[in-house]
Formats: sequence, structure tokens, C-alpha cells
Amino acid sequence: MPRRTALLLAASVPLMATAAALALRASRWELYVHRHRIELKPQPRRSCPDCQGAGGWWVDGANPEMEACGCWAYRRELRVRLLPLPAWPDEPPF
Ligand SMILES: [Zn+2]
Repeated sequence: MPRRTALLLAASVPLMATAAALALRASRWELYVHRHRIELKPQPRRSCPDCQGAGGWWVDGANPEMEACGCWAYRRELRVRLLPLPAWPDEPPF
């Protein structure tokens, strides 16, 4: 993991407590932090010779659709689901 992304991950923890949702972009990754999950998604490369950073291109035909570029579409994404805290008991344990 690049150092810049690690710094963004470390900086996102205190922000997570105050913000409902947060999205940061660093080079080829996007970090999304929400109270229920943390996601690290790949982004298109700016220096990609095929898409020039657009992430894909339009394919003509009867049903025009966007084709995703391989510089980001086949890279893995990381998703961590955050479980809710258990309910605090109303009675003291003793
Ligand atoms: Zn590309």
C-alpha cells in the first residue's frame, strides 16, 4: 500500500467519528468511509494510454454503452463491513 494511501487511512479514523460519510481520492484509489462500511475502490489511471484517465469509452451500435477500461475495472476492491455495537445492558452486571 502506498504511503499516501496509508496516511489517508490513518487520517480517516478520527474523521469517521464526526462525519456521516467521507470519500477521499488518492492517486489510483478512492477511500469511502461510512458508519456501516469502509471501501477502497480502484480508480482509472491518468496515464492510461487507452482511456487517458476517463475510465472507459463509448461503444457505438444499436445500443451504445460504455466499456470499462482494464486499468481499473479488473483490479480488486476492498470492502470492510462494520458491525453495529451490541446494545448496552440496562442493568449493572452485579
Ligand atoms: Zn484506462
